[in-house]
Amino acid sequence: MPELPEVETMRRGLEKIVGLRIHSVSFPAAKRLRSLLFKPSPQRLKTRLLSLVITGIRRIGKRIVIDFNSDESLVIEPRMTGLLLLANSPSPEHNRVEICFDDSSIHPLIYWDRRGLGTVQLLSVHTMSILFNSNRIGPDALLITAEDLQCRLGRSRRPVKVALLDQRGLSGIGNIYASEILFRAQIHPRAPCNRLLPQAWGRLHESIQSVLREAIQLKGSTLSDATYRTPQNRSGGFQFHHQVYGKQGTSCFVCGNPIERFVQAQRATFACPTCQNMRFLRKL
Ligand SMILES: [Zn+2]
Repeated sequence: MPELPEVETMRRGLEKIVGLRIHSVSFPAAKRLRSLLFKPSPQRLKTRLLSLVITGIRRIGKRIVIDFNSDESLVIEPRMTGLLLLANSPSPEHNRVEICFDDSSIHPLIYWDRRGLGTVQLLSVHTMSILFNSNRIGPDALLITAEDLQCRLGRSRRPVKVALLDQRGLSGIGNIYASEILFRAQIHPRAPCNRLLPQAWGRLHESIQSVLREAIQLKGSTLSDATYRTPQNRSGGFQFHHQVYGKQGTSCFVCGNPIERFVQAQRATFACPTCQNMRFLRKL
C-alpha cells in the first residue's frame, strides 16, 4: 500500500498544482520523528526546490514524479503509509514535507507518512533513466499488452501471484490488487507462470485492466487501518468491492465456499479454492 490505483488517484488529485511556483519548503517532523530517506538532505532540498515551477505530475509504477522547469524531478515513493495531500492531513504531527506555492489560494502540498518508510528524492533526468530503465521497472500495469504480459512472465516457474508483485515484470500491482485480480481471472495464485495456458494470459490481462480501472474510478482502497486517503483527505471506495482480500472464512461471492488465506513469499494471499482451481494449467 499504496498501489497503482491509490498512487494514480494521488497523481490526478495533484494535477492542479501544475504551473505553480514553489514559494517555500519545510520539513515539520524532521526534529521529532525518525527521518525517512531524503536525497539530498532536507536543507539542500529546500534550496534546490525554491522558486521552481511545476511542469508536470507523472506516475512511475507506485511512485509520483513531480517535474520542474529544470532537469531534475522530485520522485516520491509512498511505500507503506505515505500520502500526498492538498488538504489538511490526518495527523499534522506526521507531515514530513510541506511545499507552499506563490498562489496562496492553493493548499500547500503535504507529504505525510506515519511510519516514515517512504522516500523523497530529487533526481536528475540521467539518474532517473538508470533507476527506472525497463530492466528495473517493468511496463505500467495499465499499459502493458496481453502479449507483453505473457512474454515477460510466461517463462517463470514462480507462482503467478508472486510474479505479479515483482515490479521488474510489470509495475504498479501490490498485495491487495494481486489477490483481487487473480480472483476475477479465476486463476489460482499458486499456479506456476510457465504452466498457464494461453487463454489464462488473456484472462489475467483483462482482469488486471478491469480491477485497476475500477479501483481508480473509486479512488483506491482504504482498509480498516484507515491509512490511505485521497489528496483531499477522503477515503477511497474500492474496499467495498474487494471480493477476496481480507475476507478469509467468509463465503465466496460466486460459489459460496469459504475464502482461504495463505502466505506466499511472506505476503498474505486470499483466494477461493473452488473458483480459482487449476483448470487454466497445462498438464504435466
Ligand atoms: Zn468461489
